[in-house]
Amino acid sequence: MTDPRRRIPRTDAVLADPRVAAAADVVGKARVKDVVLAAQQRARAGEIGPDDVVDAVVAALPRSAASLRPVLNATGVVLHTNLGRAPLSGAARDALVTAAGTTDVELDLATGGRGRRGAGAMAALAEAVPDAGAVHVANNGAAALILAATALAAGREIVIARGEMVEIGDGFRLPELLESTGARLREVGTTNRVRVADYADAVGPDTGMILKVHPSNFVVQGFTSSVPAGELTELGVPVVADIGSGLLAPHPLLPDEPDATTELRSGVPLVTASGDKLLGGPQAGLLLGEASLVNRLRRHPLARALRVDKLTLAALEATLRGPVPPVRAMLEADVDALRARGRTVAAAVGGEAVDCVAQVGGGGAPGVDLPSAGVALPVEYAEALRAGEDPVVGRVEHGRCVLDLRSVLPDDDERLVAAVRAVASGMTAKRHRCRPVTATTLRCHEEGDPPS
Ligand SMILES: *Cc1c(COP(=O)(O)O)cnc(C)c1O
Repeated sequence: MTDPRRRIPRTDAVLADPRVAAAADVVGKARVKDVVLAAQQRARAGEIGPDDVVDAVVAALPRSAASLRPVLNATGVVLHTNLGRAPLSGAARDALVTAAGTTDVELDLATGGRGRRGAGAMAALAEAVPDAGAVHVANNGAAALILAATALAAGREIVIARGEMVEIGDGFRLPELLESTGARLREVGTTNRVRVADYADAVGPDTGMILKVHPSNFVVQGFTSSVPAGELTELGVPVVADIGSGLLAPHPLLPDEPDATTELRSGVPLVTASGDKLLGGPQAGLLLGEASLVNRLRRHPLARALRVDKLTLAALEATLRGPVPPVRAMLEADVDALRARGRTVAAAVGGEAVDCVAQVGGGGAPGVDLPSAGVALPVEYAEALRAGEDPVVGRVEHGRCVLDLRSVLPDDDERLVAAVRAVASGMTAKRHRCRPVTATTLRCHEEGDPPS
């Protein structure tokens, strides 16, 4: 009998398969070749038969030239930082794909002369916040803050309440961020309380600005007092309010969350916020306020280094002008509608429909519980679903894997069902025959069974 290894198809032959050739057009020939070599290696090691090489390659082909994968967020955390915060609306996705080519981001097509960069996005933002005399957009909320601190307080003092010296995540701390601009921090008040008089005592000739930071990821309860930014505008220095979440106007479901319009109406000259939190747009840092101040920041040399690209401008404008973005739809979804969806999904996948509690997350509305509903599955699903072909991230609660539907759009329910079913059939196969369905969902040999 001839050695079966001699029947392993040659690289050229595998690359000539139409499915493999099509993938090379999308992800590049080099990556496809790596996949082919790996499959041939497996065949040489006897893990797969020589006739299975092409199928193994097709199953393992990357679908995109980038490694980021689409993920279904069933965590119930609407703005999940590790999952990219706000998912963009269809309108915003279309806009950024259009802008990805050559586009008139800084050219006036009528005159052929230079136009204001991102004029459309700026106009949309100005219309959304009529109380702002001018607007500017930087790379993210932290960049907006850095720009303000550099332009207004480098080499001088920033007066800030001790209870607002927050860490925003992944070890980054606002005080350190602010000091990196060359400004010095002048802390006032205590962890739990601060008064207008504390600020007034600290303000002097060396004060560059007063900064109010919304503690967007924790709540201080009990014997507390803080000063609204609007009450600090008489102290003779610019007041900057970092509201964090990017709410442009008050939201009835989030009564304690600050919004740009209310801050500006109370007299605050400059508001900064993120674009990819409650606004539901792309990562961006919004600067909204008095025209003289905003234009000063806009013309500062650092503004050039913190400027946003055409993709962000396109997605931001479409978020502001287009239909309600996904984040708002998720936040406002009626709990009875979530329960009905939970029953449908549970019936389709054989889970149990449950009530649960969702969160805004991502540095917005800390301590706010959003009533929610979803599907409970055995706890093993949590890991298996993450490793699935179409990854789903749920949360483990009371020893079960809960898929919370508040952070899933209704249009994605069918996709969720399909993803769970695919994983479930893999788990059944493992239990009965121990046949790996895909390399990632199952690793039978880890369970002590020999691979088939
Ligand atoms: C999220 C947040 C930031 C940082 O904004 P990014 O857009 O993540 O850079 C700064 N301040 C507050 C209060 C925040 O909530």
